Amino acid sequence: MLNKLWKELSIGTGVGVIVFLAYIGVVTLPVLFAAAVLALLVVAVRSRGNLATAHGGRRSGLKPSGSLSFEEIGGQERAKQELIEALDFLVNQEEIARLGIRPLKGILLTGPPGTGKTLLAKAAAAYTDSIYVAASGSEFVEMYVGVGAGRIRDLFKEARQKAQKSGKSSAVIFIDEIDVIGGKRDGGQHREYDQTLNQLLTEMDGIYTNESPRILLIAATNRKEMLDSALVRPGRFDRHIQVDLPDKKGRLHILSLHARNKPLHEEANLERIAEESFGFSGAQLESVMNEAAIYAMRDKREAIMQQHLSMAIDKVMMGEKTDREASREERERIALHELGHAIAAELVRPGSVSTVALSPRGQAMGYVRHNPEKDQYLYTKDFLEAQIMIALGGAAAEEIFYGGRSTGSRGDFDQAMGIVRTMVESGLTELGIIDGSMMTPDRWASISSTMLDQLMERTKAMLLKQRNVFLGSLDILLKEETLSGEGFRKLLHGQPDNALTPV
Ligand code: ATP
Repeated sequence: MLNKLWKELSIGTGVGVIVFLAYIGVVTLPVLFAAAVLALLVVAVRSRGNLATAHGGRRSGLKPSGSLSFEEIGGQERAKQELIEALDFLVNQEEIARLGIRPLKGILLTGPPGTGKTLLAKAAAAYTDSIYVAASGSEFVEMYVGVGAGRIRDLFKEARQKAQKSGKSSAVIFIDEIDVIGGKRDGGQHREYDQTLNQLLTEMDGIYTNESPRILLIAATNRKEMLDSALVRPGRFDRHIQVDLPDKKGRLHILSLHARNKPLHEEANLERIAEESFGFSGAQLESVMNEAAIYAMRDKREAIMQQHLSMAIDKVMMGEKTDREASREERERIALHELGHAIAAELVRPGSVSTVALSPRGQAMGYVRHNPEKDQYLYTKDFLEAQIMIALGGAAAEEIFYGGRSTGSRGDFDQAMGIVRTMVESGLTELGIIDGSMMTPDRWASISSTMLDQLMERTKAMLLKQRNVFLGSLDILLKEETLSGEGFRKLLHGQPDNALTPV
């Protein structure tokens, strides 16, 4: 503000002086020329400065450090807490030196994609008032030996120079996908990777407590077990912080953070959306809020309504609606297949169906959205068997109504076999406790077909009794394309009084 006032005053005075000189008869042309050259120079220098910042911004994730605080990261309370504790080490340097504590050099963030690891690194830079420099493991992968190692050297140099230039006493270097360069060295094949990793280790060993600027490395990976042991040994990346998918409270927090700049209808219920988005990462939740806003705009609404949020969950989970046209017979088969999943789900886990849809989305021609009742991390044998029955429900329905299956069940079978694998490896089958890696493919094939055949018979027997529910809901599904969970449940429990309302 003050700057602007000062600028205006100088321009005003300059113009005044020139007019005065012209008035008293002084030749002002050379003065005007010199002023124009000076102005051009200033503009050129400024734009170079901007370019430099933009370039730095690209590597450092556009935002200057200091602009993102831990408050802007939803959920992840434990990860934030652990990170802050580690950073306090860096902040209280004198105390650390007095007690002779080894400097903290590297923090490893592990967890699935999109859970906020980059955000945590940025917030760490802001918290410690450091320069933030970022790179991704894949940027160091080159065909030529030595190039990756050179890039590592440049990265550290860039961090030191930037910190010095901006008068900061520390720098945070964030390396995403560290597993690309930090994978286990096998001593032969990947010399280039080895050199890059060696260079990183050398740079880390060269970090001392008393140097200025101090460097802290933060790396992220979702495959911690792949990392070379030299990288994770004490003195290198020896702080490991798990960044998990958010629980319901975390999801609500993330949704509300991303709703801050969006108009939400007063009846929109983010808590419900947090419930329905079990298993979503922070990045997916951000996408839900964004897509919901787009749906509201398409609908020409002033605010985002619950239905927009609900549609956004479907979009993020299954992909955009497509306009693939199916024939009447195919639509009927798909509808019966989806109803098979939905009825099986309601019978083994009452109240769990949220929507049954017959609209093509992503790769699917129809889908059933389930409501997880609560976040769950441990599963019993009964629960997993029920899950398999829900997956087999589609194929079972096709067998009941058409006497055979179609290719539409492929994904369901993959899912069911994945669950069988989990059950075998967790000792939940008749095989008892067994090492899955010791089993031959034949043994796998035999145990999964035995289990799946038995569960398929149970599912068919269960669905056969619901013929009327199938036929009653089929017509409505074909006509309306979607059925709400509540309407579907009313029909299932024998109250068909116009209960099937489209969503
Ligand atoms: P990757 O492993 O794929 O690099 P990541 O774990 O580093 O992913 P981020 O890049 O930090 O994930 O997150 C991507 C985007 O998702 C963020 O810019 C933000 O919009 C959103 N996001 C992710 N996690 C959170 C969170 N905990 N709170 C708020 N927003 C989040």
